[in-house]
Amino acid sequence: MSLKMFSLEGKTALVTGANTGLGQGICTAYAEAGAKVIGVARRSCQETADKIAAFSGSFTEIIADLSDSSAIPHIVEAAGKACGRVDILVNNAGIIKRCDAADVTMADWDAVININEKMVFFLCQAFAREWIADKRGGKIINIASMLSYQGGVRVPAYTASKSAIMGITRALANEWAAHGINVNAIAPGYMATNNTENLRKDDQRSDEILSRIPAGRWGTPEDITGAAVFLASDASAYVHGFTLAVDGGWLAR
Ligand code: NAP
Repeated sequence: MSLKMFSLEGKTALVTGANTGLGQGICTAYAEAGAKVIGVARRSCQETADKIAAFSGSFTEIIADLSDSSAIPHIVEAAGKACGRVDILVNNAGIIKRCDAADVTMADWDAVININEKMVFFLCQAFAREWIADKRGGKIINIASMLSYQGGVRVPAYTASKSAIMGITRALANEWAAHGINVNAIAPGYMATNNTENLRKDDQRSDEILSRIPAGRWGTPEDITGAAVFLASDASAYVHGFTLAVDGGWLAR
């Protein structure tokens, strides 16, 4: 076995939610592994661009609001213009809204489902259509959650969307594996990003969570980069439809 199979040299990766958190970590790792990286975000990705420029990696940003599926043709066209063929798609952007189930509004439900689930499916479809047509395959990595496995507390729309991500990942793998497209997911555990800021500020919830994580700490964006590079690389050629937990042992409890 050669470590070259983990290299992303010559590949282009498109990562959504590239300005911060896990998306920024994945962009940086992909650029370090040799990929040209396209970051999609609704605001500037300057911090990500600076991190990648520090080691002379390649990064281009596309500004798009992922709550609106009409952004998809723009993203596909802009990515093609910037870098030619996209080889790797990471559906990372996502939102969470904490609220008692009895009080969830339809507007909040739709907002979460649109970004976390609908946009993910249709971005997969947009790139897979090209990959099926040109017969050169591709890699899709969807960002799932512990709430793809568990019910969670006060985040029912998020749980619905992340449970759907695990199902969509399996469904698309079944259809597209024969086209050389690997569709997999990563389920991060509790990671220190904006997504968990409110949880981490709540001393009681934070203590409860930390005491249940076998690793005894919150994860970091860097913690998921090994799995992200693996699933984007030739090393995962025969891995299809799997959701890989990177959770400090949370699911093992
Ligand atoms: P984060 O820092 O909040 O990142 C979320 C990203 O999604 C940000 O770049 C955000 O952009 C982007 N985004 C949200 N709405 C958008 C929209 N309408 N258009 C474009 N971009 C949009 O949190 P994170 O933890 O890195 O989250 C990344 C992914 O991991 C999410 O899918 C999340 O559900 C998942 N996840 C996180 C954890 C965790 O513990 N942190 C655990 C499991 C799964 P803005 O900065 O502009 O809002």
